[in-house]
Amino acid sequence: MTKRKLVLINPKGKSRIGFVIDKESRYPPLSLGIIAALTPDNWEIIIKDENFEEFEYEDADLVGVTSFTSNATRAYEVAKEYRNMNIPVIMGGIHASMLPKEAEKYVDVVVIGEAESVWKEILSDFEDGKLKKRYNGDRLPLENSPPARHDLFHKDYIFDSIQTTRGCPMLCDFCTVHVFNGRAYRTRPVNDVLDELESMKAKSIMFVDDNIVGYNKPARDHAKAIFRGMIDRGIKKDWFCQASINFGDDEELLDLAAESGCQMVLIGVESEKTEALVSMNKKSNLKTGVDNYHKVFSIIQSHGISVLGSFIFGLDTDTPSDLKDRLNYILNSNVDASQVSILTPFPGTKTYEDYKRRNRITATNYPEDWENYDGGQIVIEHDKIPTELLKGFRKEVVETLFNYKRLLKKLRETHKATKSAKAAVWAFSANSHYRNMINEGKDIEGFSVSKLFESFMKK
Ligand code: SF4
Repeated sequence: MTKRKLVLINPKGKSRIGFVIDKESRYPPLSLGIIAALTPDNWEIIIKDENFEEFEYEDADLVGVTSFTSNATRAYEVAKEYRNMNIPVIMGGIHASMLPKEAEKYVDVVVIGEAESVWKEILSDFEDGKLKKRYNGDRLPLENSPPARHDLFHKDYIFDSIQTTRGCPMLCDFCTVHVFNGRAYRTRPVNDVLDELESMKAKSIMFVDDNIVGYNKPARDHAKAIFRGMIDRGIKKDWFCQASINFGDDEELLDLAAESGCQMVLIGVESEKTEALVSMNKKSNLKTGVDNYHKVFSIIQSHGISVLGSFIFGLDTDTPSDLKDRLNYILNSNVDASQVSILTPFPGTKTYEDYKRRNRITATNYPEDWENYDGGQIVIEHDKIPTELLKGFRKEVVETLFNYKRLLKKLRETHKATKSAKAAVWAFSANSHYRNMINEGKDIEGFSVSKLFESFMKK
């Protein structure tokens, strides 16, 4: 029997301009790998990945495209090419789930929510010629979640991705996670995760969970069981994860994380001011208390793990002097690497609803303007900070936070704090990627971060 052909597309976004020269900073499109794993054998599957290659039309019976908000513009462009050839296009992912009415204008079928529960029904409806315009995915328990088809990801990825949990009980105003994946914290069976990790060839791994340690003892025990299982089974990976600040609360967890290969953890610090944390409903950080950040980061570093702090500029409560204060805070803090973004109202969030209601969103030429919703552009009119000042601030961030001398100084400091050359290089590399991203892809003068990191990762 001739197989039908499914083409799955990972569209590029403008924010990847900076990543183009840093291929080691990209992660495979895990959701497409999971969709591929759920597709029966009578389908041939191809993942076309614009992280590595410009889109070229490839014949298909059916097309699936995923996107965040910043690459929705591109997703719609690619969809158009297939629809012009009368090939049906299905779109899933966060953006289409949050704005299904918009997505319906550009694709044939919209999947709202997690696609696992409806994917087989979609394929069967396609085969029967009865595709519906919308499918609503349930949030299934992760007990039967299949391992992703890692074999279909582009061969040039240095990192591979895996997920161990979904959902977040917190309600941070700017975040889509609790809206898309729900507030219940769902965990995958530990042995499923370990089996999948064992099958992955890449030495460097990103756990894509929004918070790998959760907010209670069962969640922490789940993470510990995974780390312990990696050690017991001899799964030798270097890895990076995202976690809330309570990652630093549990010495046993930190020991196991470090022993199983953790090099760096991204923590959503957002702000060093209590008032700002209250305004965005960032309860986890409020519980720790801004005065304890330094101590928590030191504890994590003492286990040989570097800290990548994520900060937001242009928060509701921010004034021009708060921008300076936050920058100075980062400059003087013990975070090893910094991810800085500008407050962005992503569809589906409370922040989006607030700014829309107050008519303060300025980038509204949709869908073209979605590509500016990448956390690095200014898409709102701030109450207290003039737009020109915010724009100019980007330059100041590059010149102070990410200047060459400081990055090398940070590299030495991280090495001293973590006593790990590897953790220090990971943090240095993260700093360099963010610098490149906000500096429009320009590498540090006379210095190839990409080459350094690539050679290091292969050791
Ligand atoms: S920012 Fe983090 S803690 Fe807050 S809702 Fe999102 S995933 Fe949860």
